[in-house]
Amino acid sequence: MRTPIIAGNWKMNKIVGEALELCRQLDEAVANSDVEVVVCPPFTALASLNALGLKKVKLGAQNMYFEEQGAFTGEISASMLVDVGAEYVILGHSERREIFKEEDELINKKVLKALEANLKPVLCVGETLEQRKTGDTEKVVVEQTTKALVDVKSDELANVVIAYEPIWAIGTGETSDGQDANEVISSIRRTLAKLYNQELADQVRIQYGGSVKPDNIAEFMNQSDIDGALVGGASLNVKDFVGIIEY
Ligand code: PEP
Repeated sequence: MRTPIIAGNWKMNKIVGEALELCRQLDEAVANSDVEVVVCPPFTALASLNALGLKKVKLGAQNMYFEEQGAFTGEISASMLVDVGAEYVILGHSERREIFKEEDELINKKVLKALEANLKPVLCVGETLEQRKTGDTEKVVVEQTTKALVDVKSDELANVVIAYEPIWAIGTGETSDGQDANEVISSIRRTLAKLYNQELADQVRIQYGGSVKPDNIAEFMNQSDIDGALVGGASLNVKDFVGIIEY
């Protein structure tokens, strides 16, 4: 019922030429895949990638600001992203939360603006190692999800993708156990059912993210509630990313 979605978060990697080369190869390699494939390059590569006319691979951004335009030096608006072909935007990534001190209220404003501009947010939630150790994982992800979705309307919810990314698993080579990740993701879906209703909750795609590689993707995709992956490091290499998409 839910189309799986595999998205690559390139973070601050790849100049335009490298981005073009990777996406050309990727688009050809996954042309017949049943899963939705999204690449989120740095802002600087979006316009050139859009001009390539990719057939299968969709484009996303890694962040945006919630204001329409104006004196916000260094920021990029939702409509600027739409203008260069982005369909998705990652919001609330743990690196934004931790390094750039983004809080739930700001992330909520970005989610609302993205939806208004017809961009699909990939909303990231996840616990730190300390929060996991103190048994607070579910509480943290439920709170992050609830706060990010304030004022999101019922008819917009299906356009939101949620990525459950335990922070201790990002870029570390450590992964959550598939069953464990599924339980956390089920609790996110239960939260959506409470905030909206079960039918809407069942339409939302929820990804796992955190050191996903070709050799561990199946463990996650075999779970009942996991609808895809948000992939960092392994999305920088065509062979690995294709390996994940072809799980
Ligand atoms: C990420 O950046 O969202 C991520 C999951 O990174 P990695 O796959 O490298 O752990």
